[in-house]
Amino acid sequence: MAIPDLPSRLATVRDGIADAARSAGRPVADITTVVVTKFQPVSLVHELLELGVRDFGESRHQEAQVKAAELAGSPATWHFVGQVQGKKARQVRAYSSVIHSVDRESLVTALGTPPNAETADASVTVDCFVQVNLTDDPARGGVSIPDLAPLVEKVLGTPALNLLGLMAVAPLGTEPRRSFALVAELGAQMRSMAPEARYLSMGMSQDYAAAIAEGATHLRIGTAITGNRPAPVNLKTS
Ligand SMILES: *Cc1c(COP(=O)(O)O)cnc(C)c1O
Repeated sequence: MAIPDLPSRLATVRDGIADAARSAGRPVADITTVVVTKFQPVSLVHELLELGVRDFGESRHQEAQVKAAELAGSPATWHFVGQVQGKKARQVRAYSSVIHSVDRESLVTALGTPPNAETADASVTVDCFVQVNLTDDPARGGVSIPDLAPLVEKVLGTPALNLLGLMAVAPLGTEPRRSFALVAELGAQMRSMAPEARYLSMGMSQDYAAAIAEGATHLRIGTAITGNRPAPVNLKTS
């Protein structure tokens, strides 16, 4: 059963992104929209594929792994946006094109080890963002700002990882644009160490326009496109 509102919600968000890019004087082609489908059935991913979406975001490994397997051979590209458990890191790496949530050195080590040391092609890399925590709450995920530079160095020293830039979530109850401006500033500082790492993963359903104004290149948008998420009660995907 097709969801009647899905095409119109997607069109509304695409228009909103185009408007925000125009206001910021930025080419809309510089902005990748990752549609976050966590807790949503795989049927929704199929519908989004039919509507031309190619970039999908997931935040729980087991659910993401099932969806990626069901959609193997489709043009879907998977972005992992949730916290990665160290012992699942290599599995997450196996289906993800981009991991947005690299936030600690032990995870860099785990991701840097090829899934199968004997057969893996050492030249295969995975794109990643280092996630910055803009709150005082370590449970939020992300590296604290004082620990950012050493973590970036560790990623740069790991051949299996290709650093794209920084990712962040604007803290609740703050002015998102100020948070995104800070991330952009940290990104500019990082480029003295990593000139190629010019991307910024920031902006969600409620704050993507502010993120575009501050230079976001990767938006992670869920509910504004998908509608409300079902409660995450189990891992069934259809
Ligand atoms: C769920 C999630 C999103 C999408 O949030 P919406 O408010 O539904 O747009 C973006 N980023 C991360 C890290 C998420 O976990």
